[in-house]
Amino acid sequence: MKIRFWGTRGSIPCSLTATEVRAKIIAALQGAKDLNLDQDDKILAYVDSLDFQTQGSFGGHTSCVQVKTAQKEHIIFDMGSGARPLAGSILAEQGKQTAQTYHIFMSHLHWDHIMGFPFFTPVYLPGNHIFIHSCHDEAEFAFRRQMASPSFPVDFSDLEAKVEFCWHPPGEVVQIGDVEVYAKKQLHSGDSYGWRLSYQGKSLVYSTDSEHKIEDIAEREAFTEFFKAADVVIFDAMYSLTDAISVKADWGHSSNILGIELCHAAAAKQLVLFHHEPVHNDAKIAKILQQSQDYARLYSEDNQLIIHSAYDGLEIEL
Ligand SMILES: [Zn+2]
Ligand SMILES: [Zn+2]
Repeated sequence: MKIRFWGTRGSIPCSLTATEVRAKIIAALQGAKDLNLDQDDKILAYVDSLDFQTQGSFGGHTSCVQVKTAQKEHIIFDMGSGARPLAGSILAEQGKQTAQTYHIFMSHLHWDHIMGFPFFTPVYLPGNHIFIHSCHDEAEFAFRRQMASPSFPVDFSDLEAKVEFCWHPPGEVVQIGDVEVYAKKQLHSGDSYGWRLSYQGKSLVYSTDSEHKIEDIAEREAFTEFFKAADVVIFDAMYSLTDAISVKADWGHSSNILGIELCHAAAAKQLVLFHHEPVHNDAKIAKILQQSQDYARLYSEDNQLIIHSAYDGLEIEL
């Protein structure tokens, strides 16, 4: 399967400013002063050699992650603003072919996780069937409310696709062909749910908007079990550890350090730092990634954990 990230920012979409783009161009040109970049392939090689925060950006859309399998059903986690470019990509691949089935698994109903739904074009195409899987009773209410007048010009009841809400208790396995998915309750304002997906012997955990209390041993064991030997864990790393356990305790989010410790305990293979703090710029997020990799090496001598910092466009193939 292939995991593709369409929205990786926490709480609210963030775009680069003109000043930030300009600073990246200046930094790149300064590094090229003594290089003879007189051919396109030399330019490409130079750009590829730049660090990520200079040549790219961690991106600004809110939570939306696509899982591609050999099956025809579309599988998506959350409907943050990343759902809009995801819809564009799906429609570009399909042309006007409709009658598609979409399975959307919701972590929770905070605005940053549902705001992309009214811009997810497949909902306007007749013949499409969209299942919204959630452990929250109020899922349908939340989706309808954000499209109600005067907040949005198209009412939910005018959508052309068939949209079906499916409530699941945590632990219940949702079977989509050979794909199996189940939820685990997490600590967050109004509750959130992580999802664990398995397909052809590979597993992915999507665990965002989840606070972890380091002193709670039972909770730690439950998450170690939930992450057990996962190939990829997508983890809410919005804050630094210091913030997560001091000024921002009880704000419902976690840190890179807790993600590393849980992944080590669970023997997970890859950790993806996700739901980036909107205040953090690219340099800060790159620094957090570097510190995370350093910490993982210090934490365990035979460290095998691969750590990524999610960005809009990141793809991980399993
Ligand atoms: Zn969020
Ligand atoms: Zn939230």
